[in-house]
Amino acid sequence: MAPSYTHNFNHAGFKGKVEIPTGLFINNEWSTSKDSNAKTIDVVNPSTGESITAIPEGLPADVEVAIDAAHKAFNTTWGTNCPGFERGKYLIKIAELMERDLDILASIEALDNGKTYAVAKSFDVTESAAVFRYYGGWADKIHGKVIEQSAQKLAYTRHEPVGVCGQIIPWNFPLYMFSWKIAPALATGCCVVIKPSELTPLTALYMTKLFKEAGVPAGVVNVIVGYGPTVGNALATNPRVDKVAFTGSTPVGRKVMEAASKSNLKKVTLELGGKGANIIFDDADLNEAVKYAAQGIFFNHGQTCCAGSRLFVQRGIYDKFAEKFAHVAAQIKVGDPFDANTYQGPQVSQTQYDRIMNYVECGKQEGAKVLTGGNRHGKQGYFIEPTVFGDVTNNMKIVREEIFGPVIVMSAFDTEDEVIASANDTNYGLASGIFTSDLSRAHRVASHLKAGTVWVNCYNELHPQIPFGGFKESGIGRELGEYALENYMEVKAVQINLGKKCAIPVDL
Ligand code: NAD
Repeated sequence: MAPSYTHNFNHAGFKGKVEIPTGLFINNEWSTSKDSNAKTIDVVNPSTGESITAIPEGLPADVEVAIDAAHKAFNTTWGTNCPGFERGKYLIKIAELMERDLDILASIEALDNGKTYAVAKSFDVTESAAVFRYYGGWADKIHGKVIEQSAQKLAYTRHEPVGVCGQIIPWNFPLYMFSWKIAPALATGCCVVIKPSELTPLTALYMTKLFKEAGVPAGVVNVIVGYGPTVGNALATNPRVDKVAFTGSTPVGRKVMEAASKSNLKKVTLELGGKGANIIFDDADLNEAVKYAAQGIFFNHGQTCCAGSRLFVQRGIYDKFAEKFAHVAAQIKVGDPFDANTYQGPQVSQTQYDRIMNYVECGKQEGAKVLTGGNRHGKQGYFIEPTVFGDVTNNMKIVREEIFGPVIVMSAFDTEDEVIASANDTNYGLASGIFTSDLSRAHRVASHLKAGTVWVNCYNELHPQIPFGGFKESGIGRELGEYALENYMEVKAVQINLGKKCAIPVDL
């Protein structure tokens, strides 16, 4: 019998029993590992620290089987064998099923990850469905070009799917990252073997039911939950994987790239960490800037790669801004993700909790000023108070390293040139923000910031149509928008001789 777990939800947004298949999803069937050494993975509720369920662990032997299934599908029912408009119909059907099961998916995400049900519903699930729908629209619009040559030569390009893709995703947006990976891959005709984070596998596993219900052919999407050094590494090293797409930390991204280069030189895209600079000029709308800056860091409990975690405020408004910002941070309601008034739930795990609290202690020891927060919240689970450090300097560890929690560092600046230099003084380059009412300055500063995204007078806004990705050590390649399709395509040039005689100087 296929392994599954049934959870009984009983909160204001949704009441009812939900069955989640928990096995490895290979060739449209759920199973346990074929390797007898496989154990189970404990899935923990971060609000309580208690186990939700234990699910079967996947191992490298299962990755091999999944890759077989993906290749078979690629060569028979998918890839260039399935026209784009058909692939698009499947993607749009998946989006519709996700919208039908919005409450269920949002409940699972809140339970497993700790994000609030309200955000899971309005953002994670809604936007993930939007990503599937967006790429469903692209599937029949992917085509090459005819390239003008001469009367004797016709040349054209074909945009073909790369093949079988290994995809590895993190725990901070379990479903959203899943959609960023799978939707463009399927739109171009690739087949995938995806590894969700072992910390938050449940929405990906629920999605396997929806893939099956949508009628996606067997082997097109395979989901294997397992650990990074086993399943993740197997995907990165396997010579039968044509491309690996990774989202996660920069250190693990390096490992993935190294493994890919040592095997078959598979194509690699990386979406990695960040330390976003958010710059507030003295002509900004102060209250809006305060609120957006708070959303820039505290959204998703600070567990956002593009978080505006370094705040630079022009000196003339620094004190006033700091007072208002600390006031907003202190007002943020931390607690039960299923309570409609909660804005910030728990961090995802004990490990993340400990990591963040170590940074908080380090900041205190380095001499940064705690304007608010700095402590544990509550008695159980992994809750941390929204924390604001003022008067930091660029050499402090809390300024240089990604904390990935509800902790922001704040400093004053005087001139535009100075703040551009400080903002760019980091190995990361994922996202940044500018708050000003001077349009010329907004464009000027945006052009100088070394980051893949620059938000002006807003923060943390993501849309399926707009590309996202990193400069410097924040990554390679772009996700979302038309750009993401390039990650999953090979361009083939076809040259056809229409009558030119061969120039080799020999007689026949
Ligand atoms: P992580 O790097 O620890 O893990 C990410 C994934 O990689 C997980 O599935 C993990 O199991 C797997 N993994 C671990 N070791 C591996 C190995 N040796 N080989 C292959 N796979 C391996 O990251 P995390 O803690 O899950 O997520 C947080 C990080 O992700 C942060 O640094 C954050 O900035 C980044 N992130 C970036 C983006 C982006 O779009 N740039 C989006 C979300 C998260």
